[in-house]
Amino acid sequence: MTRADLHVHSTASDGTDPPARVMQRAGQAGLDVVALTDHDTVAGHAEARAALPAGLTLLPGMELSARLNDRSVHLLAYLFDPDQPDLAAELARIRDDRVIRARAMVDKLIALGVDTSWDQVAAIAGQSVVGRPHIARAMVAAGAIAEPSQAFTADWIADNGRAYEDRYALEPVRAIGLVRAAGGVTVLAHPRSGGEYTVSDTEITGLAEAGLAGVEVNHPDHSQAERAELSALAQRLNLVATGGSDDHGSLTGYRIGGELAPDGAFEALVARVPSKNL
Ligand code: AMP
Ligand code: ZN
Ligand code: FE
Ligand code: FE
Repeated sequence: MTRADLHVHSTASDGTDPPARVMQRAGQAGLDVVALTDHDTVAGHAEARAALPAGLTLLPGMELSARLNDRSVHLLAYLFDPDQPDLAAELARIRDDRVIRARAMVDKLIALGVDTSWDQVAAIAGQSVVGRPHIARAMVAAGAIAEPSQAFTADWIADNGRAYEDRYALEPVRAIGLVRAAGGVTVLAHPRSGGEYTVSDTEITGLAEAGLAGVEVNHPDHSQAERAELSALAQRLNLVATGGSDDHGSLTGYRIGGELAPDGAFEALVARVPSKNL
């Protein structure tokens, strides 16, 4: 079988390892295929490709920020042309708004007495697409919390927490269309990971009608029962059932290869790509 982990982050967004190190770890985990899926950017692909160990295939991807019925929806996109102008413009807008929003969250944290600053968050993020995990790490450095995961509560920067700020995101139907127009395919990420990221069967059915290619079934946040339900739904809707570890380096305990796509999923996904930009 093809050992494929189709959901992995690097320092191009909010992971803690550079793309080259992520590829090295993917090889050590015995993977045949790894998808690099940083939030709203493809900036890590070149470094990843240059560092690929023998026998490992890179599936170029991205995790796109969308919003449906006032909740965050993450869409994994693969094998699209990142230079397609409409898609590139939306990605730039999403990234620009991430900076504005992160600065607003830092202001709220400072007003709540956290001894941090935008400079501190910017230093942690470096060239990365900024996200809440960078702010969480700054809160640890400031002594407000002991671990980054403690930032994701109603007291701090969980959705609608005291220091939370919304940001620009795409409507999923538009996102699916943009990726498709750029020659790629989209997969709904972690629809049962709970809280803000939960997507109902009815909503998934709507996305399937809009051209969604697959749904992430194997994900660390999904229970066995949720996986079984999602597999059945995928089959009913003719979606590819996929999977991945959602590794973020030290933030998630270096779990690359800890979740794999079901056998045949990688091949089925590639078969649905209008362009084959592999
Ligand atoms: P953002 O894209 O800036 O809104 O931040 C969302 C990211 O924060 C997710 O992709 C995860 O990497 C991380 N995240 C979300 N919820 C949690 C949580 N409960 N604990 C740790 N990290 C989280
Ligand atoms: Zn993330
Ligand atoms: Fe996600
Ligand atoms: Fe992710």
